[in-house]
Amino acid sequence: MNILVINAGSSSLKYQLYNMTDESVLAKGLVERIGMDSSILTHKPTGKQDVTEVSEILEHTTAIRKVLGMLTNEEHGVIDSIENIQAVGHRVVHGGESFKASALVDSDAKAEIRRLFDLAPLHNPASMMGIKAAETNMPGVPQVVVFDTAFHQTMPEKSYLYAIPRVLYNKYKVRRYGAHGTSHAYVSQAAAEFLDRPLEDLKIITCHIGNGASLTAVQGGKSIDTSMGMTPLEGLMMGTRSGDLDPAIVPFVMNKEELTVNEVNSMLNKHSGLLAISGISSDMREITEGMEKGDPNSTLAFDMYEYRVRKYIGSYAAAMNGVDVIVFTAGVGENSIVLRQRVLEQLTYLGVELDEELNSIRSGEPRRISTANSKVVVLVVPTNEELVIARDTHRIVQASNR
Ligand code: AMP
Repeated sequence: MNILVINAGSSSLKYQLYNMTDESVLAKGLVERIGMDSSILTHKPTGKQDVTEVSEILEHTTAIRKVLGMLTNEEHGVIDSIENIQAVGHRVVHGGESFKASALVDSDAKAEIRRLFDLAPLHNPASMMGIKAAETNMPGVPQVVVFDTAFHQTMPEKSYLYAIPRVLYNKYKVRRYGAHGTSHAYVSQAAAEFLDRPLEDLKIITCHIGNGASLTAVQGGKSIDTSMGMTPLEGLMMGTRSGDLDPAIVPFVMNKEELTVNEVNSMLNKHSGLLAISGISSDMREITEGMEKGDPNSTLAFDMYEYRVRKYIGSYAAAMNGVDVIVFTAGVGENSIVLRQRVLEQLTYLGVELDEELNSIRSGEPRRISTANSKVVVLVVPTNEELVIARDTHRIVQASNR
């Protein structure tokens, strides 16, 4: 079965075509600047030359039509016809409390995703555009939705409720949902497989640290707490997001600076984090470079970022009364040797012993970076959210055909 995985943003659309016989990627690519002057389609077929096409793409239906054109193109294509795509899997950011797992797209599922627009006003409408566009271009092909929040639906009330009037939860479902669920699920499972131990027996802290960042406490294979909240703003300091802060700062700043709701939202999501403290960049590579050159603001940004990661690891070890495995993943977690080192060298109280040589090896494979004697095993596991979407889609479509 060939499965097309789609991740639709408001002006972009990422895709990967999987052959599920061996889980190989036949092609992947990205359409950027949808609805703008000149849209760019970058197509990367496996074993063939990459190709870039600039054209006018006004909305997602045209974007998918162009992608399907590339996938079946004589020169750049990887399949003979669209009929060779048997299912489509969509990444959807917010599944609220309704979606505790991935689901087949039907009219009920679409109505529910629409009802959740309130909770993810930027992301869910974009996912819906992707679903509609795929339906229009591939009528009758089954579609599956895979949610960033679903893995965290196992959190107990004490983790997901905010200590604010219950009426806000009852009326508007104000609570913590978390995000990056497909990644936390994938790397915790992969860690158990790497160690050849049952997931059910393990207490794992998964650190998904990329441009967006979240930590999850995974006990017995279930998320019991995670650092992102009702929105991805809560928790760790990120590239451009503030992470945790005193909520009273919001009305204080709005009042002093006469900011609107949108302006303060934008300040906390787009102009905070590493970018605000360093004054240079939201990219950890540039922050690390600045720190190595002795720039005090980059050094402070790095220190604050690392300190938060370390504090959250400590709090999740406390939440689970111990930790067996710590997993690093995503852009920073997989690549920043210095961030991992700085975090781990101050976790000796947990019994963490870093192997500096193993930590400095770069590879795209899951690997151990703690010593053989370390009480806590520390792993780097490259994440693969698209593969999770393809696997879930495959499983759900096969089950629905039975
Ligand atoms: P992601 O959101 O998972 O794609 O991660 C993107 C982020 O990973 C970038 O913004 C960089 O800050 C970070 N990153 C990528 N490579 C490195 C590296 N070699 N060292 C430090 N950070 C990196």
